[in-house]
Amino acid sequence: MKTAVPAPDDAQAPAVVLVEPQMAANIGAAARAMMNCGLSDLRLVRPRDGWPNDEARPMASGADAILETARAFDSLADATADLHRLYATTARHRDMAKHEITPRRLADEVRSAAAGGQRAGVLFGRERIGLTNEEVAVCDALVVVPLNPAFSSLNLAQAVLLIAYEWRMAGDATPARRLVEPEGVPATRAELEGFFDRLEGSLETANFFRVEHMRAVMWRKIRAMFLRAQLAEREVKIWHGMLSALEGKKLGPSDRDAPG
Ligand code: SAH
Repeated sequence: MKTAVPAPDDAQAPAVVLVEPQMAANIGAAARAMMNCGLSDLRLVRPRDGWPNDEARPMASGADAILETARAFDSLADATADLHRLYATTARHRDMAKHEITPRRLADEVRSAAAGGQRAGVLFGRERIGLTNEEVAVCDALVVVPLNPAFSSLNLAQAVLLIAYEWRMAGDATPARRLVEPEGVPATRAELEGFFDRLEGSLETANFFRVEHMRAVMWRKIRAMFLRAQLAEREVKIWHGMLSALEGKKLGPSDRDAPG
């Protein structure tokens, strides 16, 4: 029997429960979305074309481990018996006294439940008619992706992706912006100051600061430019090399010095 390598955050992640999915391709695409986001527990309630189903494979696009461990159940109750909390995703507002939450809020709730040892499951409905009111009724809350009110119904697998993505993002520490540093470690303040001193002296010698009262302002602007660039140690060395060349210092033999 094949076993999937469980993702490290498996036990924390919600189970994905597809209720009577019709298209095997959607099951495959849902598995792919789950694996993209580090979810692995896929449960199918009475999939129309039976289970396992090889037609799910192409759209899973390599997320076979999820398909292989996916379990099919005869009833929603069986599929969710071991879970502590259930959420029903729906594109339509339901006339029920239940909380409607966003996927972001869902992610927080699932994570805090998991921290307390409780596992959550998220229900997704059939492509054609979604979840029945009876299915929605057994859930603790509804999850609605807040989309264009005039066109809010998502493809099943895309709905799985959005929910899974929000769950992942809630635990993601990727900085919103970061410098990928092919030039090595960032320059230290001392290296930068050494360069600035030299640059200022060199500009002085070249009579760059002609208007004395503008000198301080101009120098601040120049420093700001370099600081914005967040120079790496090696880049500071390049600047030293350029200054040496401009100052007329011979840098050692170059290609042009090479004979013939
Ligand atoms: N025609 C169905 C929609 C089915 S879409 C209906 O009117 O209900 C298939 C499933 O994707 C839905 O049952 C739901 O689980 C999920 N889904 C689609 N759009 C969604 C949205 N905007 N918010 C939350 N879940 C959505």
